Amino acid sequence: MTDAENENKAARHRKRMQRKKAVVDAAIERADQEKGLLLVHTGNGKGKSSSAFGMVARALGHGMRVGVAQFIKGRSDTGEEAFFRRQDNVTWHVLGEGFTWDTQNLERDTETARQGWAVVQTMLRDPTINLIVLDELTYPLKYRWLDINQVLEDLQNRPPMQHVVVTGRAAPEALCDAADTVSEMRDIKHAFRAGITAQKGIDL
Ligand code: ATP
Ligand code: MG
Repeated sequence: MTDAENENKAARHRKRMQRKKAVVDAAIERADQEKGLLLVHTGNGKGKSSSAFGMVARALGHGMRVGVAQFIKGRSDTGEEAFFRRQDNVTWHVLGEGFTWDTQNLERDTETARQGWAVVQTMLRDPTINLIVLDELTYPLKYRWLDINQVLEDLQNRPPMQHVVVTGRAAPEALCDAADTVSEMRDIKHAFRAGITAQKGIDL
């Protein structure tokens, strides 16, 4: 390319970037509302809970108060639980017992989930809690241990500036409809299927 052609290319690039900046600036200008958000992380890929706990770290960095409720108690040795339980501004609730094929008792699962939801309701009425993570809430909904309408109503009536993140596979459509931000983690590949066990710092 000659010097003139190079100069021309650089000028076109500058112009394109200027136009892009104008569009982005206008979008930022328009997004001027504040509100407590409902977020849903669903799908079969990895990253639903770890992304939610990334937001917990963000919130704590701003001095916010956080409540975490875990509905399906998979394991009690996760790094996030050990770390966040040590933080003054975090309340950590374990509300589930395990998967339904572990307990094999519908009545008991339902009762456990209902008692768990009562704990969440207390947080959903407390405006001093700025962020709530409802980890694996989709399962008690899917198995109908909890009534989706009750859950939606309680979420709807929470303090206006309170953020809530729900994680879990197969999020019900009604929950996604009610949410402000919905992300689906897509499973392209997972080390587990290559025979690699859950790794500390990555999977737990
Ligand atoms: P993470 O907590 O790592 O963000 P997740 O919340 O998206 O994962 P869950 O369905 O809650 O996924 O699964 C929890 C555990 O299973 C984690 O150890 C995670 O690494 C692992 N896992 C997540 N997705 C898959 C998958 N597609 N195949 C196998 N294991 C998975
Ligand atoms: Mg998870």
